[in-house]
Amino acid sequence: MRPARALIDLDALRHNYRLARQLHGGRVFAVVKANAYGHGAIACARALADEAHGYAVAFLEEALALRANGIEAPILLLEGVFDAAELLEAAKHKLWLAVHHPAQVEMIEKTPLPAPLRVWIKVNSGMNRAGFLPAAVRVIWKRLIIGGKVKDCGFMTHFARADEPDAEATAEQIRTFDAATRSLPGERSLANSGAILAWPDSHRDWARPGIMLYGADPLPAESHGLLPVMTLTSQVVAVRELSVGDPLGYGARFIAPRRTRVGLVAIGYADGYPRTAPEQLPVAVDGQPAPLIGRVSMDMLTVDLTDVPEADIGSTVELWGKQISVNSVAQSVGTISYELLCNVKRVGFAWEGGEG
Ligand SMILES: *Cc1c(COP(=O)(O)O)cnc(C)c1O
Repeated sequence: MRPARALIDLDALRHNYRLARQLHGGRVFAVVKANAYGHGAIACARALADEAHGYAVAFLEEALALRANGIEAPILLLEGVFDAAELLEAAKHKLWLAVHHPAQVEMIEKTPLPAPLRVWIKVNSGMNRAGFLPAAVRVIWKRLIIGGKVKDCGFMTHFARADEPDAEATAEQIRTFDAATRSLPGERSLANSGAILAWPDSHRDWARPGIMLYGADPLPAESHGLLPVMTLTSQVVAVRELSVGDPLGYGARFIAPRRTRVGLVAIGYADGYPRTAPEQLPVAVDGQPAPLIGRVSMDMLTVDLTDVPEADIGSTVELWGKQISVNSVAQSVGTISYELLCNVKRVGFAWEGGEG
C-alpha cells in the first residue's frame, strides 16, 4: 500500500478545543466545515462529542452527515439554507441557521415548518461579504419574531482582520455590531480563532473557532500553545545518486551542484502538497530536516538526502505536522494553513486518540 498518510491526533484536537473554551469562556461551536478543515468531520466531531457545546458547518449536507453519524448537539449552518426544501430539512433536524440575506427571511416566512427555528441574524459589521447592514438588523429581527416561526434569535458577525493583532478594523467591527444589536434580546457570537486569541472584547456567548482547533495558530506570533492535529507523512520509496550537472524532474528545475543523493517520496500535489513549494523548503526525514529539490509532481516529490546519510528506502518523511509547521509551508507558498489542510486528499487517513 502506498505509504502517504494523514495522521490525525484527536487528543491534540481536544486540547485545542479546551484551550479555545478557556480563553473565550461561554460556549464554543467547534467549526468542522470542509470536512473539519481536511481532518475528517465525523471523526473530529465524535472526538469532541463529550465536550463540544455545538458544531458549526457551512451548509446543510455537512450537518446532515453529522446527524447521520450520531451527533445530536446543536449544529449551526454558517451560510444558512439555500432554498425552501433545505429549510424544511434543517428544521426537521433541529439545525440552527445563520440568516444573512432577505431571501432567507422570506423563505422562513413562506415555508410551513414542523418545528420552531433557532436562527442567528448575521450582521455585516464591516467585512461586507455577507450579512445585514447594521441599520436593517432591528427590522429583520422584528420580522422574524413576529412571523412566529422563530423561537430563538441570536446575533452573529464575522471579522475580516481578526488575525492582525493591531488592526483597528476589528475593534471597529465590534463597536458596529454592538450598536446594531443594542437592546435586542438574544445570544451573541462574534469570535473566530483569531478573535479568541487576540480580541477579548469580542468574547460573548458563543465562539466559533475553526483553524485553532486544528492546531494552526492564525496569529503571527504563534505563541498560544496549540498542538498540531494533522501530521502529513509519506516514505522514501527510492534513492538515487546524481552526478554534478545532472537534471532532476520536470523542467529540470534542479541541476545537481554536487554529487547528490536524492530520495523519492510518495506524495505529490494530487494529495494536496502544494506544487508551488519552493526548492530548499524543509521536510523532516526520520526527524532530520532535509530540503525539497526539483519540482513537486502529481504523485511524487524529491528531497536531498546527501546530508542525511542514514535515511534510506522506508524512511518516514513528514511534510507538515509536529516537526514542520503547516504555517511555515503555507507561508513559503503564499497561502494560509487553512487552504493546505483543506486540500489534503487521496492519502490514507488514520485517527489516533479515539473518542473522548
Ligand atoms: C469558517 C468560519 C469560522 C471559523 O474561522 P477560523 O478562522 O477558522 O477560526 C467562524 N465563523 C464563520 C462565519 C466562518 O465562516
